[in-house]
Amino acid sequence: MSKQYDVIVIGAGPGGMTAALYASRANLSVLMLDRGIYGGQMNNTAAIENYPGFTSILGPELGQKMYDGATQFGAEYAYGNVTDVHVDGQAKVVVTDEGEYQAKAVIIATGAEHRKLGIPGEEEYGGRGVSYCAVCDGAFFRNRDVAVIGGGDSAVEEGIYLTGPAAKVTVMHRRDQLRAQKIIQQRAFANEKMDFVWNAGVSEILGDGTKVTGVRYVDKETGAERVQPASGVFIYVGIMPLTDSFKHLGVLDENGWIPTDENMATRVPGVFAIGDVRAKHLRQITTAVGEGGQAGQSVFDYIQSLQDEALANGAVPSAN
Ligand code: NAP
Repeated sequence: MSKQYDVIVIGAGPGGMTAALYASRANLSVLMLDRGIYGGQMNNTAAIENYPGFTSILGPELGQKMYDGATQFGAEYAYGNVTDVHVDGQAKVVVTDEGEYQAKAVIIATGAEHRKLGIPGEEEYGGRGVSYCAVCDGAFFRNRDVAVIGGGDSAVEEGIYLTGPAAKVTVMHRRDQLRAQKIIQQRAFANEKMDFVWNAGVSEILGDGTKVTGVRYVDKETGAERVQPASGVFIYVGIMPLTDSFKHLGVLDENGWIPTDENMATRVPGVFAIGDVRAKHLRQITTAVGEGGQAGQSVFDYIQSLQDEALANGAVPSAN
């Protein structure tokens, strides 16, 4: 018989850890499963400046604090690569590489991952100059020139971070205007180590067989093909939901995100979703945390409603 919990939280990022805190503090038995170290994307973030209570805090440090908070009321944490979730009557069965767990409710908090460009050279030079994580790999490019592809918050913020180790950071964007928040843009424009290539249709990551040497692109205004020399290429062109394991559950929209109501409930009773994996506009630590708190309470209400229903049907109340 698989181990049983009131609620299983899949994914231990800021949303998942907050949901675990709220649910365990409401005296529910909680298991957090994650296929990596707790903290989620915070582990790849250098300084977090927009989380209330801290003017600036290292991502992994905030992750540790959230973990300590999440586990203080008895929530358990275990490694688990979840491959499927299915409904068996009122039970939710969570299947991992190493076994099954059962719960009355499930909270999906698996987040999202970096989108790939899908151009020649991207895969070939992965780990040899192509990166999706400035904090992890920036130090390899000390006093070198690097390119950042994208124009959103991630591209520009991580580009600013890279101006620390790198000699020069060139942001290559497919339009002539950044998508990033104005305050981040201002900081980038004021940084002497940063420059911009506008209207760049990036077509290939170039290399010498062992390492990256540059980026081939088309200047969309003139149609001219050009090469931007670079020792490293950091790709930040958006994110994709990590929801493959929930395909059979019937909770995904046509693009793989999970729509919920304001209580974080999906269309399957007892299945909730929070954080970056939700179909929504703003993906922030603060929003994930708020949604986690709501989901913790919603799970409590859901389990209470199951008990009320059982009592109404003549069940004998349990000792707890
Ligand atoms: P994003 O906001 O979706 O931006 C993706 C960028 O990549 C856009 O500039 C987009 O160009 C470009 N792009 C997309 N596909 C491309 C392609 N095939 N080729 C070239 N360029 C392409 O993604 P993000 O920056 O990863 O941010 C994700 C979410 O996290 C956002 O909600 C963001 O606000 C949030 N975030 C917030 C912070 C913060 O508040 N400090 C930091 C990081 C991320 P277009 O502009 O032309 O579409």
